[in-house]
Amino acid sequence: MAAKKQFAIIGMGRFGTSVAKSLSKMGFEVLAIDSSEQKIQDVANMVTHAVSAESTDEDALKALGVRNFDVVVVAIGQDIQASILTTLILKDLGVPTIVAKAQNELHGKVLSKIGADKVVFPERDMGMRVAHNLISPNILDYIELSDDHSIVEIRATPLMIGKNLKELDIRAKYGCNVMAIKNNGKTNISPYAEDRIKEGDVLVIIGQNDHLNTMELAFS
Ligand code: ADP
Repeated sequence: MAAKKQFAIIGMGRFGTSVAKSLSKMGFEVLAIDSSEQKIQDVANMVTHAVSAESTDEDALKALGVRNFDVVVVAIGQDIQASILTTLILKDLGVPTIVAKAQNELHGKVLSKIGADKVVFPERDMGMRVAHNLISPNILDYIELSDDHSIVEIRATPLMIGKNLKELDIRAKYGCNVMAIKNNGKTNISPYAEDRIKEGDVLVIIGQNDHLNTMELAFS
């Protein structure tokens, strides 16, 4: 069996702390780094190692052996300069996978250009999800795959309940595909045309954004 991945998270703000805690809970080895001694004390008992260090200091990162980690997450948001310098140093050190949090689109572009393997926009993405949920309370989650396509999780509406997928005809009418149907912790990942929608079902649907919006409206 392959060894468990090791993670280093730089920046123990709200986002970094949440990533570090979640990985720790899942049983992964996590090194937390922050320049603030206080932040390090706050997370010390939740992660494998917590070290106070300045991530823009290449020697400090080398001394911590950061290059040996499979994934390093740069979770510095406010200080864009520190985020960029840190990412650049990690790239130079040869870290296999760098994930960086971007504060805005331009910051994200720079991070990609200098070699971040994945750039995440937690505030933007969460804002979009909340907006979709406000417009239609049946939308439980919204994951943007690209500018044009998304995956949505929709709570079955009265217009869906009791009908099977063939009768709902979502693919032909709206050009969207029902990928899975979830209910009470169980997930049916290969729904058949004859599968009937029950109260409490959550449909996981993939499609073009405008098609998904039309479909949402039609069933709400
Ligand atoms: P969030 O919005 O997720 O709360 P912040 O940008 O506010 O993120 O927090 C980033 C964290 O990163 C802070 O705890 C800060 O002390 C830390 N940080 C900022 N710059 C550096 C740096 N150069 N080296 C190490 N940690 C840093």
